[in-house]
Amino acid sequence: MPQNGEINTKFDVYQNLCCGQEIIIREGARFPNCPNHPRFTTIWKRLEADIVDTKVIEKKRTSDPAA
Ligand SMILES: [Zn+2]
Repeated sequence: MPQNGEINTKFDVYQNLCCGQEIIIREGARFPNCPNHPRFTTIWKRLEADIVDTKVIEKKRTSDPAA
């Protein structure tokens, strides 16, 4: 499983093992530290969530300037 500082290879939802915090991280981004444990190694577990809806919503927002 990836740790903080590693480069993400798959856009998905990840949860850290120490605090159960969930993040959505894009491909090519670095995994962050746990906000509660910035001095410790943080393991991020991929949740394989269904994020298709989220992507669609974001696209609609960005392609729809303040009308
Ligand atoms: Zn933590």
